[in-house]
Amino acid sequence: MLSHLDVSDLLNSPRRDVLSIALDVDPTKPENQAEPPAYRIWLRNELRALLDQLPKDERKRIKEIIGRVEAFIEQERPQGRGLAIFAADDLWRVHVLPVPLRNLVRFGRPDVLPLLWAADEYEPYAVLAVNRERAVLLIAYLGGTVVAEADVLELDTRHWRFKSGRPPTFTKAMGTGASRGTERDTFEARVEDHLRRLWSGAAEGADRWLQEARVDRLIIAGPEEAASAVRNLLPPAARAKLVAVVPVPGEADPDEIHRLTMRVALDEEHRRERALVEDLLARAPAGAGTVVGLGPALDALAREQVITLVVDRDVDGQVHRCTRCGFVTADPRPSCPVCGGPQEHTGLTQVLPLLARQNGARVETVSGEAAAQLRAHGGIGAILRYSVP
Ligand SMILES: [Zn+2]
Repeated sequence: MLSHLDVSDLLNSPRRDVLSIALDVDPTKPENQAEPPAYRIWLRNELRALLDQLPKDERKRIKEIIGRVEAFIEQERPQGRGLAIFAADDLWRVHVLPVPLRNLVRFGRPDVLPLLWAADEYEPYAVLAVNRERAVLLIAYLGGTVVAEADVLELDTRHWRFKSGRPPTFTKAMGTGASRGTERDTFEARVEDHLRRLWSGAAEGADRWLQEARVDRLIIAGPEEAASAVRNLLPPAARAKLVAVVPVPGEADPDEIHRLTMRVALDEEHRRERALVEDLLARAPAGAGTVVGLGPALDALAREQVITLVVDRDVDGQVHRCTRCGFVTADPRPSCPVCGGPQEHTGLTQVLPLLARQNGARVETVSGEAAAQLRAHGGIGAILRYSVP
């Protein structure tokens, strides 16, 4: 979902007249609950400053575009936590994201980096919550210690698919008019049959959803009976994605399920990150398939050797980028070693997601303890496709 944002047309666009805006509009942050919200004030100031920097003949045109952006922002509060806008004379694109973006205003070439960085920074988790009455999928994103809840999907029992929308209020799945004897046996058999269909429908529906949304982490939550039944009914592909089964009372609402499961998800995420960094650091000295440090990581990227780039989420390095061919290096040089073009000084995070995407590498950001370990080595490392001789 997030990691497959389609921005390739913007990435490859030759236009240099695009106003790119990325905002953290997270409604759970107090500064964004104020009136006007903090992001609106920030944006207005940035747009003023931008206007002042532009040559006079360009100002009039940009003023119009800025007017459209401001009208849009003031109209209503965005639904998501991150908002990206790309605007020009004949261009208007809005992306609403379930995770916050780093605030940015830029004019010129379309700047999709905040979007790509957010996609790399947040790991999506699906929580399949089941009880005897219903099944719900909660979608959450983890970035460091930030948990952004995206959506609640309810299992549609007519089509056995998870669908968006608010979960319906509690409805009894079965009638309660049971009596004695055979009738009662029949009733219990029907209840059993209903539960079996609900739980296997939930397991299969979740499997289908995970594949379609390309989400790799699943948590099952619910009372013991329901949770373990659903776990046993999971198709193999979904079972391979199962991170934990968390006991949750049957009557828990989505907020409570979210709270009870995200602690487990965070622990799992941090365990994963520590294992990744430990592996990276253990293999690097012998050149056994990994490198650490900014220079070696950029070199490996340029050689298209990198499978996974591992980055401290707060990494803050400076690099030199060729304005002609895009070659990025850690060492200052008078001109580009590839094409001889002029070099520009730029922040690492401003080029990294794009560089990774162009060279077919995925980015894994780490936080906490794992990040601290990596920081001693420049805050960056890479897992390679093949080892360097
Ligand atoms: Zn160059």
